[in-house]
Amino acid sequence: MAEAHSNPRSINPRNPSQTRPVDVVVVGGGIVGKACALGLAQLGLNTVEIAPDLGLAVPSPQGHQWGQRIYAFSPSTQKLLAHLQIWDALDHSRLQAVRDMRIYGDRGEKNDQLHLSAFEAGTHQLAWIGESNLIEHTLDQAARFQNKLERIADAVEKIDVDANGNTLHLKSGGAIHAQLVIAADGANSPIRDSIGISFSEESYLQSAVVANWMCTYPHLETAFQWFLPGGDIVAMLPLPNKQVSMVWSTSTEHAAELLKLNQSQWLDRLSSIANGAIEKQLGELTLNSTPAAFPLRKIRAARFIGPEANPKVALIGDAAHVMHPLAGQGLNLGLRDVAVLLNILSKRESFRPLSDLTLLRRYERQRQGDTSALLWVTDKLKKLFSGGSNTEKQLRNWGLGLVNKSHFIKQRLIERALGEIDFD
Ligand SMILES: Cc1cc2nc3c(=O)[nH]c(=O)nc-3n(C[C@H](O)[C@H](O)[C@H](O)COP(=O)(O)OP(=O)(O)OC[C@H]3O[C@@H](n4cnc5c(N)ncnc54)[C@H](O)[C@@H]3O)c2cc1C
Repeated sequence: MAEAHSNPRSINPRNPSQTRPVDVVVVGGGIVGKACALGLAQLGLNTVEIAPDLGLAVPSPQGHQWGQRIYAFSPSTQKLLAHLQIWDALDHSRLQAVRDMRIYGDRGEKNDQLHLSAFEAGTHQLAWIGESNLIEHTLDQAARFQNKLERIADAVEKIDVDANGNTLHLKSGGAIHAQLVIAADGANSPIRDSIGISFSEESYLQSAVVANWMCTYPHLETAFQWFLPGGDIVAMLPLPNKQVSMVWSTSTEHAAELLKLNQSQWLDRLSSIANGAIEKQLGELTLNSTPAAFPLRKIRAARFIGPEANPKVALIGDAAHVMHPLAGQGLNLGLRDVAVLLNILSKRESFRPLSDLTLLRRYERQRQGDTSALLWVTDKLKKLFSGGSNTEKQLRNWGLGLVNKSHFIKQRLIERALGEIDFD
């Protein structure tokens, strides 16, 4: 702990005499925090990033086994990573472009499906699928060469907000003072709680079981998703080298059961889905990772910035919002928070300090719509497909078929999934 990482100029939090004021502190070492800290440093701001996991080097992914955490990255994420000069540095042989998405209803009828296609939408791809480690490793490499960025492997225990900024007290002792604090400290955000920002939380009483599979048929660069009777959702996302990444959202009890299955038991379970549709699409499957489960919930912070009287903090990523992974958008949304914040701070008027209320309000206002829309859509879809009544069943399956026939609605859905960000 308290180990300075990846930069020769470091604050030693054990020695308060060495503690000095900085412009911004980013709390959190997930992809959102790392991208934000890098972007702020690239703007020329003296930036410190603090998180316990920053002491652990994220290895560059190698070999035939893909990592456990796989994400769908939207074009808005690609644009931010390109802006941060990360995208071209990624190993592109470990990224899979998605050109088609096929979403099936739970009645098993042929017409209950929605097909979204990059070709029809006039774009090269709808998304990319890749490993968390691929992005994190490259962000770590970039941080090493950024002399405005200091990283500290520690936890923030307490934050005191005063008229001039924030004092962050670290677990190892010592404190850092920053004009602005960006809380990227995840769904349980201790910063959000310390400064008294309330939040709504709802458990879906589900977990997502993730695993990677080798398949014998080509996946045709297609992401498949099946809504199943009873509320389970199974997604098979394409990966390079005839692999797919599975995300199976199911009850917590069933998830625990799935984690105990061996290869042949897994194949039995998968073949029972939608009359063997998975096998028909992808051929024979061989497990290529250790399955893991993640509990699913919805969280929304009441505010994305500190209290009106003295806002010196902005929330980004899961600290501000958590959603069901059925649309694969949580991280993408968090990275759009980063893009908007960087844009606002880079264009700020010279008389405004970093934690100026007007700036922070601009950030909050610009992020409300995107966040509310995605939280609403994912939540309503999840609930619509969990409902057991005949009317709900008919409505959802008929809805999929209907949307599939409307080029206009499909185009709007694709625009929402691609995400919009601007750097000017
Ligand atoms: C099964 C599943 C599949 C998903 N698939 C997708 C997908 O395909 N596409 C997509 O866009 N999103 C997806 N998501 C959502 C995505 O995983 C999250 O939105 C994203 O990881 C959030 O990143 P973050 O950096 O905000 O938070 P986190 O990754 O949770 O990072 C939080 C950081 O804060 C640090 N921290 C915590 N407390 C402190 C403290 N006191 N002091 C200092 N640091 C602290 C932690 O150590 C950590 O470094 C999925 C989620 C699940 C569960």
